[in-house]
Amino acid sequence: AGVVRFEDVRFAYDAARPILRGVSFEVPAGRTVAIVGPSGAGKSTLSRLLFRFYEPASGRILIDGQDIAAVTQDSLRAALGMVPQDTVLFNDTIGYNIRYGRWEAGEDEVREAARLAQIDRFIASLPEGYDTPVGERGLKLSGGEKQRVAIARTILKGPPILVLDEATSALDSFTEREIQDALDRVSRGRTTLVIAHRLSTVVGADEIIVVDRGVIVERGSHPDLLARG
Ligand code: ADP
Ligand code: ADP
Repeated sequence: AGVVRFEDVRFAYDAARPILRGVSFEVPAGRTVAIVGPSGAGKSTLSRLLFRFYEPASGRILIDGQDIAAVTQDSLRAALGMVPQDTVLFNDTIGYNIRYGRWEAGEDEVREAARLAQIDRFIASLPEGYDTPVGERGLKLSGGEKQRVAIARTILKGPPILVLDEATSALDSFTEREIQDALDRVSRGRTTLVIAHRLSTVVGADEIIVVDRGVIVERGSHPDLLARG
């Protein structure tokens, strides 16, 4: 389970300016598809439509063969796990912040999610700037580390489909590499749609879809795309 399918999806925030002009693709169960393209191409709009923040003007979006227009918000939320670009951390330990994904999770599950996201060494720490006990210093997390907390939280929630909006454009290349490693681990065997800003961060994707001005202009594996220039 966990097949995502876009069928000739068209969309405009404002009728005078089409944003998506007939986009079709499928993310097969357990596979990773990356959407890349220049800023303003319509990438984030695809994920907003998948979460039903907006409705397509025409075309359909299906999860496991079911039009998402016909499913309840609750079952849509249960099917999809979003890893956002910006993560707000709660005033508690990193472990608590991960557990927010699923309160009833066992300690070992929290630890395993943290390990997959490579954030386990911070599990008992409090983030900097929060109410740390007198005499203790909070932990200063980088943007990449914060996003890995969000990744661990989503893994723990355990949705069949992961949607990752990469924040890597704002990060240095070392952090980008670390996030990429974490994403590679967590996406293995899960249906994953990655909104990426650079081709270099999605080399491991099963398919890369290049979107420009609301249409798919290229698709293939990373070697395919490189070979075509
Ligand atoms: P990013 O590409 O960093 O994910 P966003 O998806 O937030 O950024 O926005 C992409 C572009 O869309 C930006 O140029 C932004 O100015 C524009 N944009 C975002 N929200 C609106 C809006 N409500 N009205 C008009 N333009 C918007
Ligand atoms: P990308 O993620 O590829 O950078 P987006 O999907 O965020 O692109 O945006 C595609 C286009 O839609 C951009 O030109 C942006 O200005 C416009 N846009 C994004 N959000 C809004 C919005 N809420 N209202 C109006 N226009 C928007």
